[in-house]
Amino acid sequence: MATLFEKIIAREIPADIVHEDERCLAFRDINPQAPVHVLLVPKKPIVNLSDASQDDRDLLGHLLLVAPRIAAQLGVGDAFRLNVNNGAGAGQSVFHLHLHILGGRPFAWPPG
Ligand code: AMP
Repeated sequence: MATLFEKIIAREIPADIVHEDERCLAFRDINPQAPVHVLLVPKKPIVNLSDASQDDRDLLGHLLLVAPRIAAQLGVGDAFRLNVNNGAGAGQSVFHLHLHILGGRPFAWPPG
């Protein structure tokens, strides 16, 4: 069965899209944890980083290169945090790989 994010990619479910290219889609999180909170999602339905393979190396690199461009586009310059919740035990709730891009407020370290 298609994941929620596959349905967003297919435009079956609406989302506030901020970036799209041939390999990924980025849209605002429906429950934002910061003034800027975007989910960057590969169009290929990889479950999570643990499920990625060598075949995904270029795609994963692409996501890391696109993330700062989206952060800059949304006005947070180079002050942003990238987060991947990998697996249910780490808080993953949608099993289609996604990077959280968070910005626009201070962030504590260590993370909660
Ligand atoms: P995670 O818990 O890391 O799997 O992140 C899933 C994220 O998807 C959460 O931050 C949710 O708020 C977000 N989310 C769930 N449904 C939607 C939706 N329809 N549109 C945008 N974001 C969503």
